[in-house]
Amino acid sequence: MAYRAEYLWIDGSVPTAEIRSKTKILADGDEPGVWGYDGSSTNQATGDNSDVVLQPVFQCPDPIRGGNDILVLCETALTADLSPHPTNTRAGARAALEKYGDQEPWFGLEQEYTLINPATGWPAGFPNNGFPAPQGPYYCGVGALKIHGRDLIEEHTKACMDAGLAISGTNAEVMPGQWEFQIGPADTVAVGDHMWVARYLLFRLAEEHNVEVSIEAKPMKGDWNGAGMHTNFSTRAMRENYESIIAACEAMGALGVPERHLEGYGVGIEDRLTGAHETQRFDQFSYGVSDRGASIRIPWQVAQDGKGYIEDRRPNANADPYVLSTLLTNTVCSALA
Ligand code: ADP
Ligand code: MN
Ligand code: MN
Ligand code: MN
Repeated sequence: MAYRAEYLWIDGSVPTAEIRSKTKILADGDEPGVWGYDGSSTNQATGDNSDVVLQPVFQCPDPIRGGNDILVLCETALTADLSPHPTNTRAGARAALEKYGDQEPWFGLEQEYTLINPATGWPAGFPNNGFPAPQGPYYCGVGALKIHGRDLIEEHTKACMDAGLAISGTNAEVMPGQWEFQIGPADTVAVGDHMWVARYLLFRLAEEHNVEVSIEAKPMKGDWNGAGMHTNFSTRAMRENYESIIAACEAMGALGVPERHLEGYGVGIEDRLTGAHETQRFDQFSYGVSDRGASIRIPWQVAQDGKGYIEDRRPNANADPYVLSTLLTNTVCSALA
């Protein structure tokens, strides 16, 4: 029987790239092959030379449609020579993993996001005129007054599991309507693949609930935490000894490195990294055990065990996971090599 392949790709939206998709119907036994789209409608081409090539790179069951239907994540390429499109950030992640794969880099990404009521433009759980009670009871909270949108979160978690993604957990966050899910551990390329598909599933399922998902870094000004994408990272050596944990932190703080990384950590980074709300200031670098006010936290358990991973707390929720994983792999693995 014919089946559907939902082709997914990352567009050229500025300043934050977004996921796009379209459906291809395939005959029984046919594989999803190379396809294309109108790049002039996604900020990736001009009208007179509009075709962009879609190259399938990762596929999984489509947990929303079910049956034999699948999701097909693609890289974008130029028609002229099939080289990566300039907006194709996965190509950089592939190169980093090819170079440093022997160090076995692993990532765990914590995607925070905010559910927005399309009627009011306010986060879910915010009253129409005014503000809810301040932060405190919402993080990992239970109960109808504290929690908004759990139906969607449960559906999304199940969908990620059914698709075979490396989802490792989920929790309510510190602001009403704010949530988090985690992808990992997975390598430099796979963590981005799984994150982008998980984002697709979240945005897609939210359509059914008539709610908008925002990955904006500071959706509410004022005394509310922003939305981040904490990036947990290790290499085999870091999972084996503490010297490598410290060497990784030092490499991340080397001259010029913090500034270079922040450029890839998502738009609006200065608005979120204020030094308050469990962040370090954007223009300062520090690392420390259990320190949620540091740029990089060494989890307490890691200090206890003398091995494990580090948490870069700076990336924004709106960062591109491929850009994050490429930056950390290149910086840390070149120092540990
Ligand atoms: P937090 O305590 O900061 O909220 P989370 O539990 O939300 O942390 O996320 C931690 C993430 O780190 C998970 O995705 C987990 O899979 C990942 N992780 C665990 N061990 C490692 C490791 N050795 N290397 C990289 N990531 C790891
Ligand atoms: Mn977390
Ligand atoms: Mn969090
Ligand atoms: Mn964290």
